[in-house]
Formats: sequence, C-alpha cells, structure tokens
Amino acid sequence: MKKVLITGAAGFLGSHLCDRFINEGYFVIGMDNFITGDKKNIHHLEKHPNFDFIKHDVTEFVNIEGNLDYILHFASPASPIDYLKIPIQTLKVGSLGTHNLLGLAKAKKARILIASTSEVYGDPLVHPQTEDYYGNVNTIGPRGVYDEAKRFQESITMAYHRFHGIETRIVRIFNTYGPRMRLNDGRVIPAFMGQALRGEDLTIFGDGSQTRSFCFVDDQVEGIFRLLLSDYEAPVNIGNPNEITIKQFAEEIIKFTGTKQKIIYKALPQDDPLQRQPDISLAKKLLNWEPKIGRAVGMKITYEYFKSLSEEELFKSEH
Ligand code: NAD
Ligand code: UDP
Repeated sequence: MKKVLITGAAGFLGSHLCDRFINEGYFVIGMDNFITGDKKNIHHLEKHPNFDFIKHDVTEFVNIEGNLDYILHFASPASPIDYLKIPIQTLKVGSLGTHNLLGLAKAKKARILIASTSEVYGDPLVHPQTEDYYGNVNTIGPRGVYDEAKRFQESITMAYHRFHGIETRIVRIFNTYGPRMRLNDGRVIPAFMGQALRGEDLTIFGDGSQTRSFCFVDDQVEGIFRLLLSDYEAPVNIGNPNEITIKQFAEEIIKFTGTKQKIIYKALPQDDPLQRQPDISLAKKLLNWEPKIGRAVGMKITYEYFKSLSEEELFKSEH
C-alpha cells in the first residue's frame, strides 16, 4: 500500500485530498496545526484503518516513521483575511515549512507536490494567465506575504528538483470552492452565501468589476491527483476558466438563494487582482483534464453544505 503525507489535512482542500487518496487505496497521514483548519473536516476519518493524524506545525522539523511514497504540501493560510491576520505564519509555512517537507522528500525518496496559487501572477497584466507568465506582485503590499511565500515555495521546489534530483510537482490552484470551506473565512463564496443565510446585505468590495473564475473542489482534486501521477515537474494551472465579475456573481447568488437582501459596496482591499482566469491548455494536454462541474451544480452543493451548519456556526464570527 502506497503511503502519502498530506499537510493542511484539516483544511478545505487537504481534507478532500485525504478522502480521495483513501478512496484510491492509499494509506494517508494527515498533518495540521489547526491554525485555520478544523478537526471536524477529518472527523469522519478518525477511525479509518488507512488514516493516521499527526498534530504538528510544519515550520518545525517534520519527522515521519517508516517509508513514504508521496507528500502533498497544502498547509498554508489561503484566504486574504487569514493571511492578513497571520502574515508571519503565512511566510513561514511557505518558506520554512516547504523547506522541511522538501528535506523529508529527499530523505524518504518521496515524490512531493506543492500547492501553489494563481496569486503568483499577482494583479496580472496577461489575461488569461498562462504558466509562462512571470506575474505582477507587489512584494511589500499586504498580500505580498502570501504571494511571495508561494513564489519562494516554487523556487525552492525547483532548486531541490535540479540540485537534489527529487521528484517534484507544482500545482497553481485558481479560486476553488465547495463544502468544508469556513463560512467566515472571508472568501467571496462563503461570504455571500453566509450573508444570504443570515439575511444580511451582500458586500461587494470595490465596484464589482473585478473578475474571478471559480472551480468546484471535486474538479480541483481530480486535476491534482492526475498531476501527482504525471511526470511533469514545472507548474501547471488547475482551475475553471469560466470567468465572471464579482457583481454578476453577487446577482447570481441573490437569484439562486432567493434572498431579499440588496448589494452594498465596501472599499476594495489593496492589490486585489482586477482579473483572473486560468489558461488550462497545459493541463488539458498533459493530464487530459478539464473541469466537469459548472457553477449551477457546484454552488448548489456548496449552499446545501452551508445550510446544514448549526445556527451557532452560522452566526459565529472571528473577525
Ligand atoms: P485552509 O485554510 O482551509 O487549509 C489550510 C490548512 O493548513 C489548515 O487546516 C491549517 O490549519 C493548515 N496549516 C496552516 N499552517 C500550518 C502549519 N504551519 N503547520 C501545519 N498546518 C498548517 O485553506 P485551503 O483553501 O484548503 O488551501 C489549502 C492550500 O491550497 C494552501 O496551500 C493554499 O495556498 C492553496 N490554495 C488554495 C486555493 C483555494 O481556492 N482554496 C487557491 C490557491 C491555492
Ligand atoms: N469580495 C467581495 N466581497 C466579499 C469578499 C470578497 O467583493 O465579501 C471580492 C474580493 O475583493 C475579490 C473577490 O471577491 O475581488 C474574490 O475574493 P476572495 O477573497 O474569494 O479570493 P481572492 O481575492 O484571493 O481571489
């Protein structure tokens, strides 16, 4: 049985990856320090014979007993309000954390896949974004802590590949959504759905002309799974190219949820990218992958999940 270590296992994407690898017949070791994750995301796996969990901060030396075939490094705050609240931890998990996991990959002769992001393109001047675009990042802006940590993460990963010959994979993930996102993590989908459920007005930042392209989690996990098993070392975009403005998206959510609330406008956060859309030609060619689940279906599944949460969770606010 192949053994895989998944960091960030108690988070949104990490927990779905744990499920997928267990279903594929792997032994999964989940690792997380719960800084933005939640135990309940992996509660259903606790007694599974092919699942083990280690509570650990990956910025500290990572020790795993026995052999290891694969490492998926997904630990990192991922929502703008998270990485603005914990900027140093964000920089550390992308840099020191990645260094530790690359060292572990080298020691165990394991293949490692690193979760990078569309944020390496910053506020992009090339549209849609192809993997050969170098990006437009404000290194010293508030978002820079996340973007530069991820850019460093890509560099050190390629250096380990070139210098130590370890097998590396880099996925550049574009906005992904689905069940187990934190309702109050500030990202636009939980924000709008939470507002609709609480009977609050929907908050658009800026004039809503900025665009995003939303990928359902099952499609994202499929792309990551195929990339890990491929033989391609350089970064690959995985996302859904169906682009929409935030204003159109808010209107879609109002219609879909039937909320009687209106849209209100708030200040646009500094360095908020104006447009974002993945060019997925490479993933299509290399992995024979493309997203299958459109917004109509994906949003319904996600909304059902948020509706199933308790009143306490719905009204809980950390911010
Ligand atoms: P998340 O916040 O739900 O999950 C991240 C997990 O990492 C959490 O459980 C958190 O507790 C854990 N973590 C953070 N720092 C840690 C540390 N030092 N040691 C151990 N665990 C730590 O976020 P997510 O949306 O699931 O994102 C997962 C990964 O995917 C991140 O690396 C993120 O940058 C990347 N990503 C996600 C998206 C997206 O749309 N969801 C887009 C681009 C990139
Ligand atoms: N956004 C918004 N209202 C909210 C939360 C977010 O208008 O309540 C906007 C945000 O400014 C950004 C877009 O929605 O332009 C996507 O934000 P998110 O935090 O989901 O992801 P990211 O900016 O990292 O793509």
